Amino acid sequence: MAEAASPSTAYDVVIIGGGPGGYNAAIRAGQLGLKVACVEMRDTLGGTCLNVGCMPSKALLHASELFEVAGKEFATLGIEVGEARVNLPQMMKQKADSVGQLTKGIEFLFKKNKADWIKGKGRITGPGAVEVTAADGTVTQLTARDIVIATGSEPTPLPGVEFVEGKVIDSTGALSLPAIPKHLIVVGAGVIGLELGSVWRRLGAQVTVVEFLDKVGAGMDAEVATAFQRGLTKQGMTFRMGTKVTAAKTGKDGVELTLEPAAGGAAETLKGDVVLVAIGRRPYTAGLGLETVGIETDKRGFLANDHLKTGKDGIWVIGDVTTGPMLAHKAEEEAVAVIEYIAGKAGHVDYDLVPSVIYTGPEVAWVGKTEEQLKAAGVDFRKGKFPFTANSRAKINHETEGFVKVLADTKTDKVLGVHIYGPQAGELIGEACIAMAFGASSEDIARTCHAHPTRSEAVKQAAMGVDGWTMQA
Ligand code: FAD
Ligand code: NAD
Repeated sequence: MAEAASPSTAYDVVIIGGGPGGYNAAIRAGQLGLKVACVEMRDTLGGTCLNVGCMPSKALLHASELFEVAGKEFATLGIEVGEARVNLPQMMKQKADSVGQLTKGIEFLFKKNKADWIKGKGRITGPGAVEVTAADGTVTQLTARDIVIATGSEPTPLPGVEFVEGKVIDSTGALSLPAIPKHLIVVGAGVIGLELGSVWRRLGAQVTVVEFLDKVGAGMDAEVATAFQRGLTKQGMTFRMGTKVTAAKTGKDGVELTLEPAAGGAAETLKGDVVLVAIGRRPYTAGLGLETVGIETDKRGFLANDHLKTGKDGIWVIGDVTTGPMLAHKAEEEAVAVIEYIAGKAGHVDYDLVPSVIYTGPEVAWVGKTEEQLKAAGVDFRKGKFPFTANSRAKINHETEGFVKVLADTKTDKVLGVHIYGPQAGELIGEACIAMAFGASSEDIARTCHAHPTRSEAVKQAAMGVDGWTMQA
């Protein structure tokens, strides 16, 4: 399409990508009085997280959890409502409505903070220069003192297993299935596989998870991973651990996968009507014009950073497209830090204190080091553990699966890691993050008054356990 006249627009900062990294950077830049534009090529702001990630997945997790509770627990609680049934179109609609409100909310925040949303695909054309091509082909040239790359990530494809709409799908497909599959095969027992696998299992699918490693949960503490897998199995999920998928055949009535033991051995087949490939995400830099400023990605496609600086002056990088955990809150911390660096302030991200949460039922959450990491580093530590079976609030609510584990340095008692598998773990982990950010000892947590009856008392009791004085178990 012919290029339209190119108005040049001068900014202090141009951010490419409007996800949690990009939109938070734009808001912070506006707050600090910088003239800022955020280039986003989707029809809505919010990136992967709001559009096809954190938020729609949590909408389906919430709805499907309530459906399961209605079917399995209401009668026990003395609530009689008849048979619970799934209305999938309505479930999808409420998800879309909530997502729509959230993405509109970001537009509002842009206006409030005087951040311009330039709609279209951004391409760096040289130092301080970004060209934006809108969907209708209109081209706008922007100039900027500083450019922030926040282009995020995309699903990693599985070699030998091509995506086929509705049959072999990625997380985006699994958030919008038009019908409940009879048998959903999930490849990858990581965060996406276990969250979205839980959604469809609760709604009635048989779910088989095929995982290359012998441990679920992509990096979580091994004791927690074992309990978590046992819990998911009890709920009805089937696991094929230590297994790799080498091929897929898609036909009219489903998909046939070829599986092999990860360590090698005889192949076998597994049939399902839908296959969700969730083996990780990879950085997205397609068409970004990196070559025009001499920036290269590493072998895995990531842009390296040193305090969020790329190797080139005035070009910064944050979020999934750079190294570190691919999490919305990590991108958000980097967004604030990068703008504060640009504004001449002291930005800071503590990568040791980025919490991880898996929003299954119950949830898993952790921050700091796992037992395995501490052992590998030769750190002497003590451990306190408290089961939710002994927590009065969990007991009353019939949600006693799981435990809290606190790991603390043997000599100094400084908390080094907190691992929670249990109800509201994602909310409970916040207390551990704050405690650790202030360099708390396990005794600090143990001697802090926690409200009764709350699940947070399990954190206190686990912290007491580090010094052997857990009182309620
Ligand atoms: P993104 O959110 O990917 O945003 C990048 C944006 O840049 C995109 O909107 C893209 O369109 C745009 N873009 C790219 N290139 C260009 C270009 N050249 N020009 C213009 N625009 C461009 N994380 C959590 O912390 N908690 C969760 O519960 C959670 N759940 C998830 C569930 C799922 C199913 C998935 C897939 C992810 C989930 N994540 C979760 C991860 C989270 O979504 C990402 O870590 C987060 O979105 C990264 O933010 P970002 O800003 O770096 O990139
Ligand atoms: P992941 O890294 O969490 O898990 C991928 C899993 O697939 C791992 O267990 C890995 O061993 C396995 N795997 C890799 N190759 C395989 C193969 N060939 N065959 C079988 N198994 C294989 O990745 P994900 O679940 O795709 O999630 C991607 C990213 O999105 C993660 O970085 C995660 O942080 C983020 N995310 C976060 C949340 C959350 O915070 N609650 C939710 C969803 C996604």
